[in-house]
Amino acid sequence: MGYIKTKAGFVVWGREQLFCNRCNKPLISEKALWLELDQDTGLYHAGSIPDGHTSQGSFPFGADCEAAELAKTMKARGVKP
Ligand SMILES: [Zn+2]
Repeated sequence: MGYIKTKAGFVVWGREQLFCNRCNKPLISEKALWLELDQDTGLYHAGSIPDGHTSQGSFPFGADCEAAELAKTMKARGVKP
C-alpha cells in the first residue's frame, strides 16, 4: 500500500487522480504504467526488482517517462530492467 503526492496532499493509490511520478503530469488511470522502485538503487523496474533488494512500492508513469526510467535502469545496470 502506498501514497502519491498531489496538490491536495497525499492520496491512496488508485482512488484519486494519478500523476506521473517523473514529470507530475496527470495520468489516465487505465493508461498509467506502473514501475517498481528498488529502494537500494533508486532505480525503477518494469518487472521484479533484483533478488535481495527492497521494494519501495510501485509508482505510476506516462509512457514517455516510463521509457526514460527504464532506459536509465538499463544504463545503470547494463541489463534489461
Ligand atoms: Zn511523465
